[in-house]
Parts: sequence; C-alpha cells; structure tokens
Amino acid sequence: MVVSKTFTQEKISPIIIKGHKDFGENKVQEGFEKWKDIKKIYPDIKLHLIGPLQSNKVNLALKTFDCIHTIDRKKIAKKINDSIENNFLANFKKFNFFIQINTGSEPQKSGVKLSEVDEFYKWCVNETNLKIIGLMCIPPINEPPKTHFNILKELAINYDLPQLSMGMSNDYAEAIECGSTFLRLGSVIFGKRDKTI
Ligand SMILES: *Cc1c(COP(=O)(O)O)cnc(C)c1O
Repeated sequence: MVVSKTFTQEKISPIIIKGHKDFGENKVQEGFEKWKDIKKIYPDIKLHLIGPLQSNKVNLALKTFDCIHTIDRKKIAKKINDSIENNFLANFKKFNFFIQINTGSEPQKSGVKLSEVDEFYKWCVNETNLKIIGLMCIPPINEPPKTHFNILKELAINYDLPQLSMGMSNDYAEAIECGSTFLRLGSVIFGKRDKTI
C-alpha cells in the first residue's frame, strides 16, 4: 500500500498512472477530500484507512474507504457494522477490516491489548458482520520490529486470518521476512513528509 497522507494529488498521480491500486490515508477528512474525485476516474482503486477512527467520522470513513486497518474497540466496530447495515452499504462496496493490535502494550498507542485480543476477536465474529481479514500493528519505535511482527503473525495464524498489515518505510524488509501481506509505505516512495504525523 502506498501511504499518501500529506501528499497532494500531483504527487500521487504518477503512481496511479503506473497502475498502482492500493493507497493509505491516516485521516478521514483528508482522505475524503483528496480521493473523492480521483476515485470517480479510477473506481478500482482501493483506499485504506490506517489512522484512528472516531465515532463521529464513521459515515464519512465508509463513504471514503474500502478497508479500515484500525478496528480496536467494540464501540467503533458496532458503529461501523450498524452504519453499513442501516445504509445498505454492503450492496455497493465490499468492505474489509483489520484489527489493530497494540503489540508493544504502549499506553499512548491505539490497538487492542494483547490480553484482550481473544475476547475482542470473538466478539467481532459473533456480534458483527464485519469481514475481518487480518491484523495490523505499529511496533514501538525503540524496539526490534521483528519481535512485534512475529507476535502479530502468531496471532493471525491462531485465528486463521490471512492478512498481515505490518511494515513501514523503516522496517519493511523485516516485515517481509515475517510474512507481511500489506506493507504501508510512505516516505520510502515519496520522500520525507513536511508535516510530522
Ligand atoms: C504514516 C504511516 C505509515 C507510513 O509511514 P512511512 O514511514 O512514511 O512509510 C504507515 N502506517 C501508518 C499507520 C502511518 O500512519
């Protein structure tokens, strides 16, 4: 996935023209504004939300994105599920979801705690119709990423989930070695971002 957050349509357009299909944004509003017209021209592009989702942005997120990588609490999962069902959105778009796991148990970071993954995953399966296809993590910056990628891989095997959203510009080689299926690459493609996100 090419992570296009903070980058303009002008920067992104050569990559679209080359035929790339999967793009990631970390903010709902920015993703909506940037991609609404591009998606009309390239309907087969898949947009991925890789940043935290607030309840009041769920409807706009579902309008904008095909895949959400940051499911991490019941309230948001329920709200997404109800919004899809109440608005018959599943008739128009096939949504996919990842559960974000806080593999480093960092208090400030989003993601399901390791001790709560089992309960949360089973709740999602039993209480929602969301199509959970995999797990996502962002390793702590000061630890070897492989430890965390391996934790994520083991969990995914345990739940028979085929997709692993892991690996960014600094650690994608390790992520590939650990079996990543979705690298999330921004600066290695575009160069440094102006704003720190
Ligand atoms: C910004 C971002 C990326 C891409 O980061 P780079 O280091 O620029 O590759 C990947 N994942 C998430 C969740 C991000 O917010």
